[in-house]
Amino acid sequence: MIHPTDAALSAFKSEALALIGLANVLSGDDTSLYDVDFWKQYAGKSAFVLRPNTTADVASLVALAAKHGVAIVPQGGNTGLVNGGIPDESGSEVVLSLQRLNRIRAVDPAGDYITVEAGVILAEVQKAAEAADRLFPLALGAEGSCRIGGNIATNAGGVNVLRYGMTRDLVLGLEVVMADGSILDLLKPLRKDNTGYDLKQLFIGSEGTLGIITAATLRLVAPARERVTLWLTVETPQSAVELFRHCRGVFGDLISSFELISSYGVEAACTHLPGVRRPVSEPHPWHVLIELAWTFTTGLRERAEAAIADLFEEGRVIDGAIAENEAQRQMMWRIREGQSEATSKIGYVVRSDVTVAISDIPALVARCDEFTAEFGPEVAVLPFGHIGDGNLHMNFVVPREKAKELAPRLFDQLFAEVDALKGSISAEHGVGRAKRDAIVSRKPEGALSLMRQLKVTLDPQRILNPDVVVRVNQKTD
Ligand code: FAD
Ligand code: ZN
Repeated sequence: MIHPTDAALSAFKSEALALIGLANVLSGDDTSLYDVDFWKQYAGKSAFVLRPNTTADVASLVALAAKHGVAIVPQGGNTGLVNGGIPDESGSEVVLSLQRLNRIRAVDPAGDYITVEAGVILAEVQKAAEAADRLFPLALGAEGSCRIGGNIATNAGGVNVLRYGMTRDLVLGLEVVMADGSILDLLKPLRKDNTGYDLKQLFIGSEGTLGIITAATLRLVAPARERVTLWLTVETPQSAVELFRHCRGVFGDLISSFELISSYGVEAACTHLPGVRRPVSEPHPWHVLIELAWTFTTGLRERAEAAIADLFEEGRVIDGAIAENEAQRQMMWRIREGQSEATSKIGYVVRSDVTVAISDIPALVARCDEFTAEFGPEVAVLPFGHIGDGNLHMNFVVPREKAKELAPRLFDQLFAEVDALKGSISAEHGVGRAKRDAIVSRKPEGALSLMRQLKVTLDPQRILNPDVVVRVNQKTD
């Protein structure tokens, strides 16, 4: 971290005030929403919060931060899960909120792209695409709160990765404010541009450590006019993997989501989320939520029904339901998306987002069951998530008062199992501060030193989110 003097902080603050006005420089209690994360798992203390309205203002503010040697923490919707978008506890970092950069600059259905500012809420990007008869396929539980700049900075995943890829696959161009306050305009809507290094990729997934994203041009895809949502139950994770392989063969790219949920999670959702009911009559060991979609308006449902009949005949599934209307579809998704919310009524939820090869998912689940049992009945394992991507949220529900003691031990065990299967300890949430030290032993030395070189080159003063992703010591440390 860097250590600005009080004089430097107050000079920065008064110059910022002159630039963006009193109402957009928050201090004292007004910063509390910006200092604590969505699930209240992490808390820091900002020196103050800046709320610029334009790219030019972001650039001027970053130039001031560089002049005064003050660290900036970029923040979008503050829904990130790895302690990367809030300040540290020193009281010397300044939050730069992108929320007021919320304009949709252009929508072009012929070119299949949309250009938006970083502070536009993801659900608003989806709506703007829909209004142009297109789909912006990034979709995740936090879509009503997270902002597109945050999605890009974390390279968010979500429930449609199987078909449309991660956020990275949806970005055509970026506008970025660099650590010296200059503006890098890479905002082209081009699909093909082989003129040297693809620099925008550096900033996607960089979690605010290499530059501040102020706008993006995003890929739109054909609308999903007919959607079929299926809820199927199986005996084991192995059956779910086999079901995925089978459905892939039948439906190919028409599968947009293929999600696994444990019995524990489904029953917790039905018990603790108001109005939620299990889509099948009896409890079952494992549940699979599948969504199929295409651009035609009819015909998919009939095909899905025929395929389901085959699944039952071949004994691939135990029970199942098909969403008859939007309300039933929403109910199925509520169970899936409400896993953390429901289980947080039972205890503290230790969250993870690990990934292994799809064929190794059953082994990962089995190993996690084994080591969780060793913790005794007070720890429950809650695996759910994107089995079609090989990515599970292998969460644990623990007594609240023991969370501090149990969480690190559970992570150690989980990460060891992931290492044994040659997976990754973060599939979609990123590194932040939460996994910064855990990645050090897991990345090839060459990769880590290249990451550090990039950081030093793009942010020589280490003013952009200095404690996040990778640590590079200050020359003065
Ligand atoms: P923030 O939390 O504000 O910031 C996240 C990181 O990006 C921080 O390091 C911050 O410094 C940086 N940052 C933010 N804006 C910018 C910018 N403009 N320029 C540079 N850096 C910036 N993630 C998934 O991948 N898949 C999921 O399915 C998923 N589901 C979720 C469900 C819930 C209920 C919640 C709370 C979170 C979920 N997440 C999921 C976490 C996910 O990372 C975020 O929801 C989202 O991508 C972050 O966007 P944000 O605007 O809230 O970013
Ligand atoms: Zn996820």
